[in-house]
Amino acid sequence: MAALRSLGRLVAKKSLKHSSSVGRNQHVRYLSNGLPGLSETHQMLRQTCRDFADKELKPIAGQIDKDCTYPKKQVKMLGELGLLCVDIAEEDGGTGLDYLAYAIAMEEISRGCATAGVITSSLYLGPIKAYATPAQKEKFMKPFLNGDRVGCFALSEPGNGSDAGAASTMAKLDGDEWVFATTDKSKKHKQTLDAGRIGIAAQALGIAQAAFECAIDYAQKRKAFGEPISKMQMIQTKLADMEVQIESSRLLTWKAAMLKDTKKPYTKEAAMAKLAASEAATNVAHQAIQVLGGMGYVRDMPAERHYRDARITEIYEGTSEIQRLVIAGQLLKEYHAS
Ligand SMILES: Cc1cc2nc3c(=O)[nH]c(=O)nc-3n(C[C@H](O)[C@H](O)[C@H](O)COP(=O)(O)OP(=O)(O)OC[C@H]3O[C@@H](n4cnc5c(N)ncnc54)[C@H](O)[C@@H]3O)c2cc1C
Repeated sequence: MAALRSLGRLVAKKSLKHSSSVGRNQHVRYLSNGLPGLSETHQMLRQTCRDFADKELKPIAGQIDKDCTYPKKQVKMLGELGLLCVDIAEEDGGTGLDYLAYAIAMEEISRGCATAGVITSSLYLGPIKAYATPAQKEKFMKPFLNGDRVGCFALSEPGNGSDAGAASTMAKLDGDEWVFATTDKSKKHKQTLDAGRIGIAAQALGIAQAAFECAIDYAQKRKAFGEPISKMQMIQTKLADMEVQIESSRLLTWKAAMLKDTKKPYTKEAAMAKLAASEAATNVAHQAIQVLGGMGYVRDMPAERHYRDARITEIYEGTSEIQRLVIAGQLLKEYHAS
């Protein structure tokens, strides 16, 4: 909580004073529809991340996509604000919040810029948090908390992707140093991926929310046949369906995060969240392009980028086919015929 307060103060100082009143009203409208009972800490984090994303990430997202560049300055800012280590304990130098907080931060950052969002992924720090010794944490965790260094999780190989258990890379001692990767081919990957899927679900939610906002804004401004297209029922149907998909996926995502935080099994729920949110993101971004018509297809508007960003969330950290296999596998265990 203390960490979040300082995070809030820092972000407020750096970004809120520059927010326009129109932007602030939009935040209130969107953020009012949170989960009933969402704690003050989580609501504050959500608002803080949203304001930061609007001020620092949204303005650069289109350009870094066009230039194929890495948002180095923004990653450093995320690190300074404690947003690269939201769920890492304070004694380890992290922000000291929970996984729900991480999912909330990931969504809001991804709503501003999906590239920045995926850099906050738990895939690198997650297994270190879970398995590293204090000395390993010092070396492999500390420099990664403030954005000085950025880690990655290299599981895919030319010969394996979906089949994580088929990874052939093994740890080897080379002089005094271990050369990556694993001595346990399945269990730790599985736990890392279960948690990571909640993060990708949250990233997909942020992309979906951004696409939805782009569509509803355009629909109210664009006129056809003498009136805003938002007055047309077929456009309204699209907007309604988008909102239902986003909100239902958000509930699944937050539920999976809450199960993890309360140390309950969450493999099935993480897969359900990832499947629902990534498919929602693709559907919402697809319909957003349709609402924008020709402007949806061109790079002057963000809708086509949201679609490309959404599409990868159905592939990495387990394709939608693999999520369905995970869900079905868990269901068959739960409903094991006697
Ligand atoms: C932008 C990007 C970033 C990435 N980042 C990382 C990263 O940071 N670290 C990392 O380790 N990897 C990363 N990946 C790799 C990613 O995780 C894999 O692409 C993904 O897991 C799918 O593996 P694959 O590409 O080998 O597809 P394949 O496993 O070859 O699958 C091809 C198709 O077959 C389907 N399929 C496979 N097995 C089954 C089955 N049993 N039943 C039904 N259908 C099946 C799949 O769903 C898919 O539709 C990244 C990929 C991309 C594109």
